[in-house]
Amino acid sequence: MKAIRFHQFGGPEVLKYEEIDGPSLSEGELLIKIGACGVNFIDTYQRTGAYKVDLPHIAGQEAAGEVVGMADDVSGFKLGDHVAFTGTPYAYAEYMTVLAEKAVKLPPTVSDKEGAAILLQGMTAHYLVHSTFALQKNQTCLIHAAAGGVGLLLVQMAKMQGARVIGTVSTEEKAILARDAGADEVILYTQQNFVTEVMKLTEGKGLPVVYDSVGKTTFENSLDCLEPRGYMVLYGQSSGRVDPMDPQILNAKGSLFLTRPSLNSYALTRKEIEWRASDLFNWISSGRLKVHIDSARHLSEAAEAHEALESRKTTGKVILIP
Ligand code: NDP
Repeated sequence: MKAIRFHQFGGPEVLKYEEIDGPSLSEGELLIKIGACGVNFIDTYQRTGAYKVDLPHIAGQEAAGEVVGMADDVSGFKLGDHVAFTGTPYAYAEYMTVLAEKAVKLPPTVSDKEGAAILLQGMTAHYLVHSTFALQKNQTCLIHAAAGGVGLLLVQMAKMQGARVIGTVSTEEKAILARDAGADEVILYTQQNFVTEVMKLTEGKGLPVVYDSVGKTTFENSLDCLEPRGYMVLYGQSSGRVDPMDPQILNAKGSLFLTRPSLNSYALTRKEIEWRASDLFNWISSGRLKVHIDSARHLSEAAEAHEALESRKTTGKVILIP
């Protein structure tokens, strides 16, 4: 089968489209003919070596497709089902195996493309809004990179909670997308000081929560947007790692809370995965949640997809089609 592998860490050019042996089933697993795979920032961190993986490594960890084989001990699935999953390595390929306990069945109303586009980023937006800081009606939140993959979903889910959403984006085009997703206010953080703007918009009060996926370039200023006892939810580092900090700063800025969450800790049980995934699929099926797919490239163009994601050229989700 064809797959995207890298034999050394580096830039997008290390991603090679290669012919390799297909996977074989082990206990508890499904064999999937992949219909679409999701491209995520974590794939770029693994490719550069920022997150260590063994080499050579098949990139990717999110996909959707058809069940074409099952281990004898698997129940609850049948051949021909379409499923989606995340947190499982080797997804940039034509076939892969996945533990059945990690896969969720796609309803007929959700395609493989939507399944691969929504699971990781959608479950992330879901836990951020429902579990990390459970947003309440009429609270105001700040969402950085609001036109990004997680960003557009987070804006929509925050609005479903009845919150007021302030988004940040780098360009006018992205501002339009963030507004279309429901953002009440959009700040061009490449041109405006977002702390000043947030303070204007909240009449000097500050915010109960900031959802920050940008990291290095936004972190410190994000702390200054919070009201006393506010929540700094740092869930990504698209601009680079945040420098180490003295916890005393949290005291000085008003007894703030700081968390650095990840999806793994918010998808701990089958029940939790099913709760988040079924909410996503129901909302997509009813039209309440829009999945914005930036581009669907052929699998062989994985390097171009990484390049686009890392250079801020994308909005919404990037997927690859084997
Ligand atoms: P995005 O689609 O949000 O792409 C990143 C965006 O960040 C860019 O489009 C850009 O938006 C903004 N950005 C600001 N500065 C930079 C920079 N220097 N380089 C690149 N981008 C920059 O990506 P995802 O939605 O896939 O992921 C967003 C972040 O969330 C990533 O850091 C990812 O690792 C993290 N994440 C964390 C999860 C978790 O559970 N903790 C799960 C999923 C993702 P703009 O041009 O508007 O500034």
